Amino acid sequence: MTSSNDVRATFLDYFARNGHAVVESSPLVPRNDPTLLFTNSGMVQFKNVFTGAEKRPYNRATTAQKCVRAGGKHNDLDNVGYTARHHTFFEMLGNFSFGDYFKEQAITHAWTLLTKDFALPKEKLLVTVYHEDEDAAALWKKIAGLPDEKIIRIATSDNFWRMGDTGPCGPCSEIFYDHGEAIPGGPPGSPEEDGDRFIEIWNLVFMQYEEGPPGTRRPLPRPSIDTGMGMERFTAILQGVHDNYDTDTFRALILASAEATGQDPDGPFRASHRVVADHLRSGAFLIAEGVLPSNEGRGYVLRRILRRAMRHAHMMGARDPLLPRLVPVLIRQMGAAYPELVRAEALTTETLRLEETRFRSLLERGLGLLAEETAKLGEGQPLSGEVAFRLYDTFGFPLDLTQDALRSEGRPVDTAGFETAMQEQRRRARAAWSGTGDAATESLWFDLKEKLGTGTEFQGYNTERAEASIL
Ligand code: ATP
Ligand code: MG
Ligand code: MG
Ligand code: MG
Repeated sequence: MTSSNDVRATFLDYFARNGHAVVESSPLVPRNDPTLLFTNSGMVQFKNVFTGAEKRPYNRATTAQKCVRAGGKHNDLDNVGYTARHHTFFEMLGNFSFGDYFKEQAITHAWTLLTKDFALPKEKLLVTVYHEDEDAAALWKKIAGLPDEKIIRIATSDNFWRMGDTGPCGPCSEIFYDHGEAIPGGPPGSPEEDGDRFIEIWNLVFMQYEEGPPGTRRPLPRPSIDTGMGMERFTAILQGVHDNYDTDTFRALILASAEATGQDPDGPFRASHRVVADHLRSGAFLIAEGVLPSNEGRGYVLRRILRRAMRHAHMMGARDPLLPRLVPVLIRQMGAAYPELVRAEALTTETLRLEETRFRSLLERGLGLLAEETAKLGEGQPLSGEVAFRLYDTFGFPLDLTQDALRSEGRPVDTAGFETAMQEQRRRARAAWSGTGDAATESLWFDLKEKLGTGTEFQGYNTERAEASIL
C-alpha cells in the first residue's frame, strides 16, 4: 500500500527531477506575515518572492507545507469529523514557479504526475477553470484530452485567487476526483456539489495580474504558478478509500482512540474519534512550535481546538486524559517526516495532560448546566446567547464547543445574543472601574488589560477581541 509518507516523497521527487528546489515547510506561525494567524497554504512562505520583494536562489520550488485552517478566512474547524475531506491540520503539497514556467507547464506537470507517476485513471478526473480563462480550458483539452463536460467553467471567486486587496492575482483551476455514484454529491458548480462524491484534490493558481487601486489591473511581466494539493485527500485515493479518516495515519490514531476509550471506531462515536484524531494533530504540531494554550490570539485558537477534542473524549467516557496517550502513535506515523514532533514529545505530552486535567471539572459542570438549560427548550429552539456566554465566561467553553455540543440535536446557538452578552460584560467592567475619573488613565488601564489579559483563567472575552482583531 502507498503510505502517506510515500505520497509525500513521490510528489517532491517528481518536482525535484523537474528542476524544482525542495524547500522545507515553513513554520505554522508565519514569520513574514503578522496579520495571518497560521500558515494556511504552501504559498505563504513565498509571498514576498511572488511580489518580487525577496529574491531566492531558485525560481522553481516544491514543498510539503504544514497548514492549519482553524480560524480567519479559512476556518475548517466546524467541518472536522463531519466531512470526509477536511482537517484543521493538513499537509499541502505544492509546486511553485516564480516567473519561470506558466500555465501550460503547470497543467502538464499536474496531469503527468497524476496519471503517469501515480497512475490515476483519467476517467475519474475532472477540472474547473475560471469562466473567462479560455487559455486554461484549451490547455486542459490539449494536454489531458478531457471532454468539454469535464472542463467546468466557474464564475465565482472560488476560481479567482487574490493575495490581498491589491497585489498578485489570477484565475485558478481545481482538479477533482470522482469517488463514484455510491457517494452523494454532484460535480463542482452544480447545486449538489456540497456532497463528498467529487473531491477537490489539487488547486492550480495562475498568477498573471497585479491588482492596484480598485479597477486597475495590469498583466504581470513574469507570471507565476502556485499550486496546492491536499496530501490526505490524495492519499485516500491511492489507498483505495473515499475518506481521509480511513487513511493510514488517521486510522492508526482512531484505532488508538478506540482502544483507549473502549468505543468502537466505527460505532456511534465515529465522529468523536475523528475529531480527537484531527485535533490531536493540530495540537501536537502547534505545541511543537512553541504555541501553548492561552487566552490570547494563537494560544486561544489552540485552546479552543483542544477543549473541543476534550469534550469528545469525555463523551466517549475517557477517564484519564486521552490526547497525551495518542502522541506516541502520531510520532510513529509522522515523526520521521517532522522531527520537531519527536523533539517536542515531552512538552507536548505534558501540555496536553495539563490542559485536559485542568479543564475536566469545568467541562463536567458546564455540560451539566448545558443539559439543564436545553431540557427547558423545545425541539430546535436556539440556546440563548446569555447561557452560551455563561458557559464561556464561567466554565471556559469556547463558543464553537457549545455549538458542536448541540449540533447532534440540531439546536443552534443565538450567536448575536452571545455577542451582546459579551459587550454587556465589557461595559459593566468599564463602568465598575469608576477609578480616578481620569479618562486618560482609565483608557490606558483598559488598553493594558486588553493587551495582557488579567491573568485569571476565563477572561476569554478579551482574547476573543484580540483574536478578532488578528483575523
Ligand atoms: P475545499 O473547497 O474542499 O474546502 P479549498 O478550495 O478550500 O478546498 P484550497 O484553498 O484550494 O482548498 O487548498 C488547496 C488544496 O488543499 C485543496 O485542493 C485540498 O486538496 C487541500 N485542502 C484544503 N483545505 C483542506 C482541509 N481543511 N483539510 C485537508 N485538505 C485541505
Ligand atoms: Mg475550503
Ligand atoms: Mg475549493
Ligand atoms: Mg481550492
